[in-house]
Amino acid sequence: MRNWKNQKGLQEVANGVWAYLQPDGSWGWSNAGIIADGEANLLVDTLFDLKYTREMLDDIKANVPGGDKIGILVNTHADGDHTFGNQLVKGARIIGTEGTVSDFDRFDPAFLDQVMKDPGQFGRAGAFMAECFRPFDFSDIELTPPTETFRDRMTIKVGDKTVELIEVGPAHSLGDALIYVPEDKVVYTGDILFNEGTPIAWYGPIARWVNACNIILDMDVDVVVPGHGPIATKEDVRRMRDYLLDVTEMARPLYEQGMDFLDAAYKIDLGEYRDWPDAERVIVTMRTLFDDFEAADERPVHVPVPFFEMMQDMRNHLGKPRVHDEWCQAHDH
Ligand SMILES: [Zn+2]
Repeated sequence: MRNWKNQKGLQEVANGVWAYLQPDGSWGWSNAGIIADGEANLLVDTLFDLKYTREMLDDIKANVPGGDKIGILVNTHADGDHTFGNQLVKGARIIGTEGTVSDFDRFDPAFLDQVMKDPGQFGRAGAFMAECFRPFDFSDIELTPPTETFRDRMTIKVGDKTVELIEVGPAHSLGDALIYVPEDKVVYTGDILFNEGTPIAWYGPIARWVNACNIILDMDVDVVVPGHGPIATKEDVRRMRDYLLDVTEMARPLYEQGMDFLDAAYKIDLGEYRDWPDAERVIVTMRTLFDDFEAADERPVHVPVPFFEMMQDMRNHLGKPRVHDEWCQAHDH
């Protein structure tokens, strides 16, 4: 019944509800969207740089009625690939969770710009970032955080449409939120869903991310617009939730044996997930899981894993998703 295209640009997934996709959904290639009713509209996220955000806004202007003026922008979370274009819609109300605002300066565009201009100075992490982020231009970006914040839930009207903002973080990031349009049975997940790609948990607890997936699974929705990857359904949410559950189950005994998180990331057999793109992200998720175990899932303060160090660790795995096989070879199994 559905025939969504996995191609760059806007597509209307329900009446006045649009997804904006950027294949292939890997590092920095995030999705966004717009909900429109009459002249009113709500933009879901901006993109990783000004050029790509401008291109999206032009597409919206050309195809969405009233799209020449963005009324509301909601950021699903603070990561730069969902917010670095915010300055281009400064006239709009900009809304996000309190966590999103607190998380906003975790990624400094000026620093990214510096790394991209001279990655050699930044070792393996610099090399990895240059490989991941080469298509993007981080110059001239002014961090433009939300000015209206909420906790838990917020209901807003876009014309006659009711839109529910639901805080589900900390999970992938400190301030994740879902954007749900009940009457059209559409939910935008931000990076709570990576579809056909490996998720990455900068914060956790992973149990809370699993719970966020369950919240989506309990919704009456036909269309799930993920933060990365093709337009999805609940089935895709279930698969990604199962990845998180399976990795957790494999990780726990290794943690209990006193293994280091990095060794554990090598040792587990990703099985059916090993061919998902960006499989090396399991290293970051494993580190977060180990932090979760240490705090018995009750971390009072949510501390992100160290970005730069993690980029370096992932570089060591780049293009080598079959970490389990490598571990076995290295350890003579
Ligand atoms: Zn993202």
